[in-house]
Amino acid sequence: MPPVDRNAPRRAGSSESSWSLMEFLRDFPDDAACLDWLWHTRYALDGEHALCPKCEQERPFRKYVMVNRNTSWTCTACGHHMHPTAGTIFHKSSTSLHLWFDAMYLMVSTRCGISAKQLERELGVTYKTAWRMFHLIRNELMTQDDDDEPLSGDVEMDEMFMGGKPRAADRAAWVKTGNARSAARKWADKTKTPVFGMVQRGGKVSAYVVPSTQGPTLGRHVEARVLPKSTIYTDEAPTYVGIARRGRYDHKRIHHAERVYVEGNVHTNTIEGFWSLVKRGIGGTHHAVSAKFLQGYLNEYVWRYNRRDDERAMFWSLLLRAAATVS
Ligand SMILES: [Zn+2]
Repeated sequence: MPPVDRNAPRRAGSSESSWSLMEFLRDFPDDAACLDWLWHTRYALDGEHALCPKCEQERPFRKYVMVNRNTSWTCTACGHHMHPTAGTIFHKSSTSLHLWFDAMYLMVSTRCGISAKQLERELGVTYKTAWRMFHLIRNELMTQDDDDEPLSGDVEMDEMFMGGKPRAADRAAWVKTGNARSAARKWADKTKTPVFGMVQRGGKVSAYVVPSTQGPTLGRHVEARVLPKSTIYTDEAPTYVGIARRGRYDHKRIHHAERVYVEGNVHTNTIEGFWSLVKRGIGGTHHAVSAKFLQGYLNEYVWRYNRRDDERAMFWSLLLRAAATVS
């Protein structure tokens, strides 16, 4: 066996990771490498020739590092400047591009996500900057679109409620009213945020913050994402009967109220597994998330779940989205 080269660490063949920190740093050692990547990806495949919007034809470009150390590429025919970050989430950010790429790497390489507080420590940026970076990545790059590949075959769906626990003082007050259960339900309706999710068994998941768990609201999401003639698996909530009929779905229901959780292949364990991943992740990593920002966090968990077998693909698809998303 050849001696190990400690200056060129290699990922162990048996490592679960398909994309290690060393590999990330090798491809993106500094800010210039990140900027070059954007330039190549967005404008100039060969790094030199790009379509000049002013000349309206392909021209050779030259790279210039300006006095303020900003880099731009300049058309050698007309002098027009092009910035590889123009229109992307990185544009006009005073945060180094390398740190942006680093944040994306950290986001996809952790199973449960990392908090803005942790990112602040990892990157040496302010908490406000860390929070803003994550916010933009979640809401601009990880969005779920109705035109993503539709779900089909066996599709489980379920709703859940996110939010904290009632305070002890509130609970005590409810008991005094003599109808603690209805008070607790009212409290939950008012404070908790409903979330609706669908997952194709062995496939992808979608999850959305919804204003209510009424039929028309959920039905719109189902019809936008699930192909007709699919089989849908739900609990006994009456809402789903109408949804199944309208969407011409084969409908299998599990009777949780009778304490039945699995009957042959009739169950909702896959979507419930996803919910527990989200709840554990948000509870353990981010502690509490307000309703206003919940969709962004859901996007992040959905993004990772849907690419769960390949961190390398996860990172690159995020980067390519960043290069393609022009606001
Ligand atoms: Zn030009």
